[in-house]
Amino acid sequence: MTDPIVIVGGGAVGSAVAYFLMADPAHDAPVIVIERDPTYARASSALSASSIRQQFSTPINIALSSFGIAFLRDVGELLMIEGERPDVGLREPGYLFLASRAGLPALESNHRVQRAHGADVALLDPDVLRRRFPWLATDGIAGGSIGLSGEGWFDGYALLQALKRKARALGAEYCKATAIALERAGDRIDTVSLDDGSRLACRAVVNAAGPWAERVAALAGIALPVRARRRSVFGFACHDELPGCPLVIDPSGVWFRPEGARFIGGVAPSADQDPDEDPDAGSLEPEHRLFDDIVWPALAARVPAFETIKPLRAWAGYYEHNTLDQNGIVGRHPTVRNFIFANGFSGHGIQQAPAVGRAVAELILHGAYRSLDLTPLGFERILAGAPLRELNIV
Ligand SMILES: Cc1cc2nc3c(=O)[nH]c(=O)nc-3n(C[C@H](O)[C@H](O)[C@H](O)COP(=O)(O)OP(=O)(O)OC[C@H]3O[C@@H](n4cnc5c(N)ncnc54)[C@H](O)[C@@H]3O)c2cc1C
Repeated sequence: MTDPIVIVGGGAVGSAVAYFLMADPAHDAPVIVIERDPTYARASSALSASSIRQQFSTPINIALSSFGIAFLRDVGELLMIEGERPDVGLREPGYLFLASRAGLPALESNHRVQRAHGADVALLDPDVLRRRFPWLATDGIAGGSIGLSGEGWFDGYALLQALKRKARALGAEYCKATAIALERAGDRIDTVSLDDGSRLACRAVVNAAGPWAERVAALAGIALPVRARRRSVFGFACHDELPGCPLVIDPSGVWFRPEGARFIGGVAPSADQDPDEDPDAGSLEPEHRLFDDIVWPALAARVPAFETIKPLRAWAGYYEHNTLDQNGIVGRHPTVRNFIFANGFSGHGIQQAPAVGRAVAELILHGAYRSLDLTPLGFERILAGAPLRELNIV
């Protein structure tokens, strides 16, 4: 019997890897997903704002999300089990990035990259913005970039569960345990030890541990620059409807979008408010101060109807923040060849989970990327200190 492929972490990324491994006719080894908390209480995939966009500044991220939206549109068919089609509630009203005069050149430059790589996006001047979104105040706005298709939001937890169920239906095994040691034999990992005392010989190990990825890499003696950073999401209700409301990103960094009949929004904390946290012990209490001091004032300035909103439930989760360049780290370790990263997505990981899952499965089963070359996201750039900068981080 071939040794199993072991995936540490059964969130959206680990479950996507498991699904694509099992769905590939070339799969020839058992797949075991080690997940210590099947309730996913602190997992990013359960606490995500679960939105998807094509508006990135790097071609590789556009390509990842392009596959992501195609996968989400077909998810009912792809992840169907015995005639039961999962529903991840995909909505596609677009993202609207707003720019001040100072931000306009960057918006236009990103637009050129996005168009060149097939994204369905349009630039709108303030007059067009006002006509299209009469509820929007365009003070200080020099232009906006809207996704005409392929952008919106979905239920990330439902996606995680659908991937997991399908992976299991195809034969993947989920094991409730914590991976506590990775034993190296020369240039490979040959055993994964679990907290229940068991030891698994392995053909390959995939690090899909989300905000805990740095710790899992450290078990193999590998330094991974991925830190847990808390992000808060604030729910609120508004009396008025905002017809056609997309996910709006204000030049201040404040974002909002509809969530059913209500709204959610947030902002990235500034660097000095944004310490690395302990993803086990750190607080998952949302930073309410951010809402009062930054988010609400910006919302009310951008959408007059938001002056009288009613705050609702807020929550927080951890970005798995890649401190080098806020982009995913995917692929084999250059010397420990059977240790494979699927980490560091820094706030765009749930939309990238399908494409990353497919890529990692190809790497393991076929020895190379086949459909989308993720070499630019490789760990080599971390060792070289050569960032692949993504300018559109939300
Ligand atoms: C507030 C917020 C908003 C976000 N918004 C978006 C968005 O709009 N769009 C987007 O694309 N992305 C967004 N993200 C990011 C996205 O949610 C994550 O990138 C993605 O969910 C990461 O998935 P994952 O499977 O890698 O991690 P997780 O879902 O965190 O899964 C990792 C799993 O590994 C397990 N684990 C860890 N260590 C071990 C171990 N040693 N042994 C066993 N199990 C272990 C954990 O229990 C956990 O379940 C957001 C994140 C947050 C927090």
